[in-house]
Amino acid sequence: MKITENVPLSTLTTMRLGGPTRFVIEVESKVDIEYAYNFAKSHALPTFVLGGGANTLAHDEGFNGVIIKNAMQGITEEEGIITAMGGTDWDAVVEYACKHEYTGIEALSKIPGSSGAAPVQNIGAYGQDISQTFVSAEVYDSVTGVFKTMSKDDFHFSYRKSIMNTTERNRYFVISISLQLKVGRMERPFYNSIEKYIFDHNETVFTPINVRKIVSAIRADKLPDPKTTPSAGSFFKNIYITEEETFDVTQRGIPIHRGNDGIKINSGWLIEKSGLAGQIYNGIRISDKAALVLINESAKSFSDLAATRDFIITTVFNAFGYRLEQEPIELVNQSQKIDALLNN
Ligand SMILES: Cc1cc2nc3c(=O)[nH]c(=O)nc-3n(C[C@H](O)[C@H](O)[C@H](O)COP(=O)(O)OP(=O)(O)OC[C@H]3O[C@@H](n4cnc5c(N)ncnc54)[C@H](O)[C@@H]3O)c2cc1C
Repeated sequence: MKITENVPLSTLTTMRLGGPTRFVIEVESKVDIEYAYNFAKSHALPTFVLGGGANTLAHDEGFNGVIIKNAMQGITEEEGIITAMGGTDWDAVVEYACKHEYTGIEALSKIPGSSGAAPVQNIGAYGQDISQTFVSAEVYDSVTGVFKTMSKDDFHFSYRKSIMNTTERNRYFVISISLQLKVGRMERPFYNSIEKYIFDHNETVFTPINVRKIVSAIRADKLPDPKTTPSAGSFFKNIYITEEETFDVTQRGIPIHRGNDGIKINSGWLIEKSGLAGQIYNGIRISDKAALVLINESAKSFSDLAATRDFIITTVFNAFGYRLEQEPIELVNQSQKIDALLNN
C-alpha cells in the first residue's frame, strides 16, 4: 500500500486539470481497502475511487479527501470466465481475450482506463458494451463494510450507466470483474465505421485479433491518445430517441442510427452542424475528427473547460433544441455538493 499527500489531480486525470487531492492511497489487498476507508473515516474525509482518470474531471480547488486507487492487477481464466483485477489496464484484458480467440469485447479495444472502472459507465464502442459479456464483480461496499459479489443484474446496466454512476455513486470499490466470452467471431454487419474501414482497406479476416486491429486503426485516426493529448474522450453522451420521435427528427434532416441498443442521434453530428468542430474556446479544442471529443490544448483551469462546455450546450440547444448531457464524472468536494443543493 502506498499513501501520498497533496497530489495534483492534473497528474491523475487525462484532461490534465485540477488542484491537489489531500491523500492518495493505492491499495494492493482487501486489508488495504479496509485500511483506506478507515483512514478516511478517522480523518473525517470523503473518499473517491479513481482508476486511470480517463472519465473523471477534477476541479481547480482540488479534492479535500482521500483518492483510493486499485493497484491490484492480473488476468485469470477459469471455465471460460475471464477475471481481471480492477487495477488492470482495460486494453490488456481486450488484448488477452483477442489473443485467445475470444469474441465479445474486441470492439472495446483501446478504450483508456482501468478494468475496475469499465462497468461503472458500461463502457461501449462500435456496437459492443461491457454489459453484453459481464458476469459479476467482486466489490467492497463502503456503506456496510462488506466484501461481496455483485451480479450483472445488480448493476442495472444501460447506455453509459450502471448503479455505480447513478443511484449508488461512490459507494462500491470494484476489486475485480468477471466476463463470459465465447470462442468465435463478431457477427456481421459490423458497426458502420468498421464496415467502411473493411471496404476501404479490403479487409477479409474477421478474427477477434483482426477486428481489434481494425478498431485500433479507426480509433488512432480519430481519437486523441490520452498519453500525449489531454482529453476525457467523448465529452457528451449521444441522444437516444423513441420510435415515435424518429419521424419528426428525420423530417428536420437529423440523421438517426439504429442499433442493438436503440435509436440514437449522434451528438457529435449536432456539434459539427452547429459549426463548432475544430474551434478553440478558452484553450479547449472541439476535435475536428470527432466533435464529441474536447481536447485540452492550453486550458489551465476547470472553469475554462466548464465555460466551453456550457457554450457548446447552449449553441447546440439553440440550433437543435437538444440539451447535451456531459459524460465524464466531476470529482467535487462535499461543500460544493451542498452549495449546489442550496442553489437548486
Ligand atoms: C481518448 C478517450 C477515448 C475514450 N473512448 C471511450 C469509448 O470509446 N467508450 C467509452 O465507454 N468510454 C470511453 N472513454 C472514457 C473512459 O475511457 C472510460 O470511461 C473508462 O472506463 C475510464 O476508466 P478509468 O479507469 O480512467 O476511470 P476513472 O476516470 O478513473 O473513473 C471513472 C468512474 O469510475 C469510478 N471508478 C474507477 N475505478 C473504480 C473502481 N475500481 N471501483 C469503483 N469505481 C471505480 C470512478 O469513481 C469514476 O466515477 C474514453 C476516454 C478517453 C480519454
